[in-house]
Amino acid sequence: MKEIILAKYGEIALKGDNRSTFEDILVRNIKRRLKHLGSFSCDRRQSTVYIEPLDDKIDIDAAVGEVKKIFGIGAIQKCAVFPKDFDIVVKNLDYLSEALSDAKSFKVEAKRSDKSFPLKSPDIQQKLGDAVLDKFPHLKVDVHAPEVTVRLEIRDNGAYLSAKRIIGLGGLPVGSSGKALLMLSGGIDSPVAGYMMAKRGLIVDCIHYVSPPYTSDRARLKVEKLCEELTEYCGDIRFFCVPFTEIQEKLRDSCPEEFFTVIMRRMMMKIANKICEREGYGAIITGESLAQVASQTLAAIECTNAAAEFPVFRSVIGMDKIEITEISRNIGTFETSIMPYEDCCTVFTPRHPRTKPKLSEIIEAESTADLDELIEKAVENTEVKRFKFGEQTVFLD
Ligand code: ATP
Ligand code: MG
Repeated sequence: MKEIILAKYGEIALKGDNRSTFEDILVRNIKRRLKHLGSFSCDRRQSTVYIEPLDDKIDIDAAVGEVKKIFGIGAIQKCAVFPKDFDIVVKNLDYLSEALSDAKSFKVEAKRSDKSFPLKSPDIQQKLGDAVLDKFPHLKVDVHAPEVTVRLEIRDNGAYLSAKRIIGLGGLPVGSSGKALLMLSGGIDSPVAGYMMAKRGLIVDCIHYVSPPYTSDRARLKVEKLCEELTEYCGDIRFFCVPFTEIQEKLRDSCPEEFFTVIMRRMMMKIANKICEREGYGAIITGESLAQVASQTLAAIECTNAAAEFPVFRSVIGMDKIEITEISRNIGTFETSIMPYEDCCTVFTPRHPRTKPKLSEIIEAESTADLDELIEKAVENTEVKRFKFGEQTVFLD
């Protein structure tokens, strides 16, 4: 018996003429993702990628675990494949033992996309339901809330039997929407913001600002660890680490304290602009959430935004902390995010930041500080690293 994975399209199924471009990228992402488990063929037909292990020793459950983390897939089914012959399927219902032995109720769902198959879907449901009851007499049929749904799909090139469907992450395949630069701090919000934009098909690389000696190596390593964790969903990530100390010291010495945070955020934007221009990124992503802190009020965001020369995607802007935290737990970044290392944003924090800064006042204060040279220098001294999906590094004890 042959077992394969069906990866059914999410939003890609709605695409028109350019659909094959998305499919190509999805298949490429699946192949890359599964490479470490062995060799697979990935054929695409009927809004589905058929992921078939080419070696008996491949751990197919591990493969399902990987496919679950790929954007662009609406649903995932591990299936046994049979010739399109109902009797053969019935002879092989053992395949369902793992899912049905401990279950109490089930229903059957049948789909017949090959209309030449002699039984219609309701007939398949009826007959297969009876056969399952014969084989597993402890079960009851429950069409409304079954514990297990047995699916039989009669597709162009075989009959596919499964008892497990997992909802995929949805979205679009990473790499189908271009690339963007995520401003990644060590907090909870920015990794989630990056995850959400990767879900829209962006390649997400990260920029992080450090202020040694005010921020420690450990704080930086924590952010690198977040990068590594994000590769689970985003694929390989380039990491730009910007030395930010001199700019912060200059701001401390020459700007009104109440404007410090907003001007610092504008400096971050200006540096991100330059990296975007140099490296070809089309947008900047931040983890700002409206009104979460003084630097994220509408007026403060207006001031920060005015320094950006690229579209800024604030994918968590309308979410509250509880919602963001829930995603962060689900994607596995939460535990790292709450490690207690300082971020450069907490260095020289003003006692009373202005919650309604005026852009004209900010620009005025900024111009006296003469920061352009320091920005250039920070960009020049930025370190670049690459985090590859699947490569584990031990960062912290
Ligand atoms: P987070 O939980 O992501 O740290 P936050 O609530 O702490 O967010 P701020 O510190 O005001 O909010 O930062 C807002 C956004 O600015 C962050 O989500 C991130 O995108 C960016 N940011 C802040 N500090 C840094 C940093 N040191 N390096 C890169 N980006 C940063
Ligand atoms: Mg932060």
